[in-house]
Amino acid sequence: YKAKSARTGHHVYRSTDDSHGDTRLRTLEELRNALAENELVLHFQPKIELATGAVQGVEALVRWQHPTRGLLYPDAFLELAEESGLMPGLTQVVLAQALDQAARWQAQGTPLSVAVNFSGSSLVDESLPERIAAMLLARALPSSALQVEVTEDFLMADRARAHDILSRLRVRGVRIAVDDFGTGYSSLAYLRDLPIDQLKLDRSFVSPMTDDPRAAALVSSTVILAHSLGLTMVAEGIEDAEAYAALARFGCDQGQGYYMSRPVPAADFDLWLARRHPESQALWRDHGAGD
Ligand code: C2E
Ligand code: MG
Ligand code: MG
Ligand code: MG
Repeated sequence: YKAKSARTGHHVYRSTDDSHGDTRLRTLEELRNALAENELVLHFQPKIELATGAVQGVEALVRWQHPTRGLLYPDAFLELAEESGLMPGLTQVVLAQALDQAARWQAQGTPLSVAVNFSGSSLVDESLPERIAAMLLARALPSSALQVEVTEDFLMADRARAHDILSRLRVRGVRIAVDDFGTGYSSLAYLRDLPIDQLKLDRSFVSPMTDDPRAAALVSSTVILAHSLGLTMVAEGIEDAEAYAALARFGCDQGQGYYMSRPVPAADFDLWLARRHPESQALWRDHGAGD
């Protein structure tokens, strides 16, 4: 019975396990099954250019359509996937689904770049850049169709390896974003030397901004610093018009948040896009021409 967790080792399977342990074990078995049975689904949330309102891409966020427990969110199963060694498999499934969707959007005439979240354990795979290149090629997608989101923790854990993997992705034209920026311990000085394109300011900096001038000052100076390093800034967790307006005023390039759209299934995203940009066909054909 392969229920051994990488982190907790031998604890997982014991006859004295409490109900929590039993649940965990069952979930692990179900998760393994979910990968094989295609129970993972992706929801998509737009990345909006704040100055114009244009949709610049989408982030793919994984959910598990559980046969009995309903739709489960990442906090219910990602940690388990990580601890039990299922993460590389999960990432592969997510990546394939995200690129399939990017290919559908391209065929529909609304090409959108899809950002995929990578955990550290998924990025240690040396063959990842080649595998990604092959997956793009198989779908006739340009490398700009994919964006990779990594966390500061990964970047800090093994700097040399992070640098190597990210630069091999980036020379192929895949853009890299640092997720949840500000929550880890990386400094801008360190980030300067990394092959990255974008910082995603963590939501915990965005929410207090409208009430607290010092929080706002922190955000606006971080935007300036990011720009001075040649990086674009995306703000997470924009929940109201005030936050949107303040970030736009600070020159923050892009934003994501419930105020614009929650993460939704692809079909709902298409409806949202059509309502927002009735001219989206034309808009996307002359990408960058503005509206
Ligand atoms: P993240 O990559 O930082 O994604 C942003 C999270 O914030 C998402 O939660 C999103 O639904 C949520 N969010 C977006 N806008 C707002 C807002 O305005 N207000 C609030 N309160 N929340 C907002 P979600 O989907 O539950 O994902 C949580 C985390 O799970 C992600 O954080 C990411 O670290 C991880 N994750 C999600 N999908 C994947 C995946 O496919 N692979 C890996 N490795 N990690 C994933
Ligand atoms: Mg992310
Ligand atoms: Mg994030
Ligand atoms: Mg986050």
